[in-house]
Amino acid sequence: MACVRNVSKDYGCSTQASQNLIMLEKTGKGIRMTEPPHDQTSQVQQLPTQKTPTIAPLTTITIAVIGDVHDRWDADDAIALKHLGVDLVLLVGDFGNESVNVVRSIAALDIPKAAILGNHDAWYSATEWGIKKCPYDRTQEDRVQQQLDLLGEAHVGYGKLDFPAFNLTVVGARPFSWGGSEWKNTDSFYRSRYGITSFAESTERIVEAASSSACDTVIFLGHCGPKGLGDRAEDICGRDWSPPGGDHGDPDFAEAIEATRKLGKTIPLVTFGHMHHQLRHTKQHQRVSIVDRDGTIYLNAANVPRIVKTDTDCHRNFSLVSLQNGIVTKASLVWLNQGMTPISETVLYQDETFSSKPHQGREAIV
Ligand SMILES: [Zn+2]
Repeated sequence: MACVRNVSKDYGCSTQASQNLIMLEKTGKGIRMTEPPHDQTSQVQQLPTQKTPTIAPLTTITIAVIGDVHDRWDADDAIALKHLGVDLVLLVGDFGNESVNVVRSIAALDIPKAAILGNHDAWYSATEWGIKKCPYDRTQEDRVQQQLDLLGEAHVGYGKLDFPAFNLTVVGARPFSWGGSEWKNTDSFYRSRYGITSFAESTERIVEAASSSACDTVIFLGHCGPKGLGDRAEDICGRDWSPPGGDHGDPDFAEAIEATRKLGKTIPLVTFGHMHHQLRHTKQHQRVSIVDRDGTIYLNAANVPRIVKTDTDCHRNFSLVSLQNGIVTKASLVWLNQGMTPISETVLYQDETFSSKPHQGREAIV
């Protein structure tokens, strides 16, 4: 265990680096920070000046994950994100049914961001069923491509975006995912857009992106989550329509995560949406929205609708993740009112070494 004095640095964003004396401890998850015992603190403070080893800056960043938008996005969202002191925004897609204007507004967000498009973002282009219902002339315009062009490098589907200031890379899973283990439904879409014809090829494409990441810490962003996190209807990617039950996660995403671990990358967070929190077969908010497994936090951010208007107010939700030196220390679902005041916070996960507060589903009105 090494003991160092932290120096806060300005990285051009609202990072909240602690300026306290802290301990660094190597753990299975990476480097963990703890408060030193008082006697050791005084010992270190008495040390004469000496050369200290070069270490990465100690920072906590706040990540907002925006669950399935489904056309519920407005100018107040950008204000709210600033108000929350968010450093990085991750958007899991389903902005609307090929809603180019919503994507245009999101693309204009001037906070570091990464996004992946969802199945609704190719609603009239990916399946025979959707193409038949298309309300615009597909021979004249390609709204899927328009959305991709608007997002530019912020779209990480089958790609990645490095954030060296945060010492992490966001890698995108398969864009436009419908979820589940059947490939055939959207074969021609993936074949023509990406030259991909199977889950195996899809896995390869995601791993290719991960292997080119500049940082050793990788956050995965998908539309649907990976397979393997449970097969009950209420599980994080569980099938909640008739007949309920079964794992609707993406098999290529799961394989890619495993392959990326083998590359030596650390994966503190895998986040996604698509499978709404409110279960279809019971109409209750009871889907498991967070899983802590193998040092990785899996977060489903699809609390839909994400904006709710009342007679006198307007409430909007954000999933907030605190990442401290590559470790998730807290994840919560926060609702703000029109005055940008938090009205509730549901703590979904809290690293107990950073707090004595209980975790898992604690809800507090603040
Ligand atoms: Zn979806």
